[in-house]
Amino acid sequence: MATDSFRLTITEARELLRKRELSAVELTRACLDRIDAVEPLLNSFITVCADEALAQAREADRRLAKGGAPPLCGIPLAIKDIYATRGVRTTCASKILENFVPTYDATVIARLRAEGAVFVGKANLDEFAMGSSTENSAFGPTRNPYDTQRVAGGSSGGSAAAVAADQCLGSLGTDTGGSIREPASFCGVVGIKPTYSRVSRFGIVAYASSLDQVGPFGKTVRDCAIMLRSLAGADPADSTCSTRPVPDYEAALSGEVKGMRIGVPKEFFVEGMQADVENAVRAAIAHYQSAGARVVEVSLPHTQYAVAAYYLIATAEASANLERYDGIRYGVRVEADNLLDLYRKTRARGFGAEVKRRIMLGTFALSTGYYDAYYLKAQKVRTLIKRDFDQAFACCDLIATPTAPTTAFRLGEKMSDPLQMYLSDIFTISVNLAGLPGLALPCGYDAEGMPIGLQLIGPAFGEEIILRAGDAYERSGVLTRKPAVV
Ligand code: GLN
Repeated sequence: MATDSFRLTITEARELLRKRELSAVELTRACLDRIDAVEPLLNSFITVCADEALAQAREADRRLAKGGAPPLCGIPLAIKDIYATRGVRTTCASKILENFVPTYDATVIARLRAEGAVFVGKANLDEFAMGSSTENSAFGPTRNPYDTQRVAGGSSGGSAAAVAADQCLGSLGTDTGGSIREPASFCGVVGIKPTYSRVSRFGIVAYASSLDQVGPFGKTVRDCAIMLRSLAGADPADSTCSTRPVPDYEAALSGEVKGMRIGVPKEFFVEGMQADVENAVRAAIAHYQSAGARVVEVSLPHTQYAVAAYYLIATAEASANLERYDGIRYGVRVEADNLLDLYRKTRARGFGAEVKRRIMLGTFALSTGYYDAYYLKAQKVRTLIKRDFDQAFACCDLIATPTAPTTAFRLGEKMSDPLQMYLSDIFTISVNLAGLPGLALPCGYDAEGMPIGLQLIGPAFGEEIILRAGDAYERSGVLTRKPAVV
C-alpha cells in the first residue's frame, strides 16, 4: 500500500482496512513517519506514543482480520492532552501537571480503545484550554500547517494542526468557548462541538464545567459524524451526560438541503471583520440557496454581550475547578516550611500567566459584594442569549455564520493584548453559553491562502441537521480544498 496512506480520510481508510488492502500497522507507521517529518515545524504534539500506537495497531489488525470490526478500528487518532489516558502522561500543557500520569482512561478514551482506535499521541493545547492560539502552552506554541509563521488557533490547536498536516486521520478536542471550532477554522479542517451533555466528560480536565464539551476533528464532515457516533452517549460516571439515544449521524448525511431553512443573524457580520471571511461565508450561504435551501434573516440581539458574560462565567468556574492543583494531590510540588507557603509556591511556579489571570478574574467575580454585579448578571445575560436562539430556531432549522472574524493571525500578534485574543471567539462563545451544537468547516481561503471557516449552529441535539448541511456543502464540490503547505 502506498506510503502516503496518512493522507486518507477515516471513511477511505475504514474501507481499505476492512478489505485488508491496508493494515492498521502500515497506516499507523505512515502517520508516525509523517509525525517525525513535520513535527519539528509544527509542534502539534506534547507526547508521541509510537510504541503504544503500534501495539494498538497490531491488535486492531487481529480484529480486522476476523471481520465485523467497529468503524474506528485501526484508525490513528490524536488526543488533546486534556483527556486522561491510562499510563500516558496528561499535562494540560501546564507545568503543574508536567509529570502527571493518570491511572485511568476518560470514558471516551476507554470507548475508543474498546473500538480498536489507535492513539498516536497527546496533542498540544493552551494551558488548561485557556486561549485561542495554543501560544499559552508550557510546551511551546503549535504552528499553522498552512503558514508556520501563524498560529493554529486554540485551545485545541495541536488537535487541529495534526489533522490538517495529516499526522493522524482524526483527533479529539474540547470546546468551552470555541476551542474546537476556531482552530478547525484556522487550520482548514472540520470540527464539531456537540450539544452540551451529548458526550461524557468523565476523565477530561475541567475548565468551565457549565460550558465544556468534547468533540472530534476530521478531514471531512463525514469523518466527524463517524467519530461523534462513537463518542456520544450516556455515561454512569458523568451525571451531566445525556441519556438520549445516539442517532446514526452518518446515516443522516443525505446530501439534501432542499427546503432547509437557514437563518443568518445580522449581528454576526460585524464591522472590523476580515472582508475575505465575510465574502466566503456569504458565498457559502448563497450556495445553499441555489441548492434549494431557504435563507431567512434572524436576530440574536444579545450577541454583543456574549464575550463579557463568558469571561465572567468561565473564569468563575475555572477559579473553582483549578483549586485542586495545590501541590498535594497532583503533579508538581514546591516544598516550603508550611502548608500555605507550599500552596503559594507550587501554584506560582506551576501555572502560566494566562491561567493566573483567569483565576484572579474568576475569584474576583465570585467574591462577596461583587457576586451580584458580575457573576449573577452574567448568568442573566446567558439566559437572554439562550432565549435569542430559541426565538431564532422558531423560524429556521439551522444558523449559518462565520466561525471566526479573521483567519489565523501571526504568532505573537495578540499575546500582549488579552482582549484582542478573547475577541477571536466572538462568533463561537454564544453557542457554548446556549449549550447548542456547532460545526465548523472550511468554506474558502483568504488572499494569502489561509483557510476560512463556516459555522453551522443547530438547535439542542440538532447535530444531524448541521452535519447533513455541512456534508452537502462539502460534497457539492463548490470549494476546492487546498492542502496544507508543510
Ligand atoms: N478562547 C476561549 C478561552 O480562552 C475558549 C477556550 C475553549 O473553548 N477552551 O476561554
